[in-house]
Amino acid sequence: MSDRAQSMGLVVVGAGGRMGRTLIRAVDAMDGVHLAGAIEREGSEHVGRDAGLLAGLGESGVTVSDDPLPIFAEAQGVLDFTSPAASVEFAGLAAQARIVHVVGTTGCSEEDEAAFRAAARHARIVKSGNMSLGVNLLSVLVRKAAEALGDDWDIEIAEMHHRHKVDAPSGTALLLGEAAAEGRGVSLDAASVRGRDGHTGTREAGTIGFAALRGGSVVGEHAVTFAGEGERVELAHKADDRSIFARGAVKAALWAHTRKPGLYSMLDVLGLAE
Ligand code: NAP
Repeated sequence: MSDRAQSMGLVVVGAGGRMGRTLIRAVDAMDGVHLAGAIEREGSEHVGRDAGLLAGLGESGVTVSDDPLPIFAEAQGVLDFTSPAASVEFAGLAAQARIVHVVGTTGCSEEDEAAFRAAARHARIVKSGNMSLGVNLLSVLVRKAAEALGDDWDIEIAEMHHRHKVDAPSGTALLLGEAAAEGRGVSLDAASVRGRDGHTGTREAGTIGFAALRGGSVVGEHAVTFAGEGERVELAHKADDRSIFARGAVKAALWAHTRKPGLYSMLDVLGLAE
């Protein structure tokens, strides 16, 4: 059997985006996978172009298409960093084609999350607001710190991203907030405070605060501060390069290839889930 026949064929959706192009380069560079397709929305200027050339590589022989289903049918997995509405639609198509769906898209509503849970009854979905090893390890440390430090330690999460980002707080900030809430044994929905402005009154004990900065080309920076009386603990992560998320996504696809249907996280992929 040829190497290609043994390797996992992956489709990159949103191929012309910042992450889409990074994913095409990661698939090209990593063992055990090959590019089986590239998708953009109908009417996109990228449709009809060669995916390798789009990503700054040589010619790949894969043409960007706007018709996902026939391409999914010939592949084993989809790498999806697009928009919530597009990812929900791709989840249905990936489930229909019985292939792995790796979702990195952030800013999803509770309704979107319910659609992923429904698709995962028949499909293998790995979904995470951050696909890097560093942030997933950080989330474990945040959970443990929140568990160890009582709620007289205030938790604040600050993040900064490039000027093109459309959702706030970032998916990663929310992932870290969930980890802190889990460590404290509370629900993030009930505990979170999203931004402050005007006469806010004093800080309510037990809340988890979020602050979002936007500007320039920052790939992603997150800091979780535990502020106690007279001392502070700071746990932070800085992403220098989008390739950390793309390599994580490919790793997730390879991991999920042999799993049963279900909705998995990067903690499962990295063996960090407890
Ligand atoms: P981006 O540059 O705007 O790329 C998104 C791409 O998806 C665009 O090319 C867009 O096309 C395309 N798209 C949207 N709807 C589509 C559809 N229905 N069919 C096909 N393609 C469609 O954004 P980005 O910076 O790459 O980020 C994408 C997402 O990934 C965001 O939600 C971001 O927060 C998330 N992200 C997650 C991680 C993680 O580790 N989980 C890391 C980085 C980023 P148009 O331009 O035509 O709309």
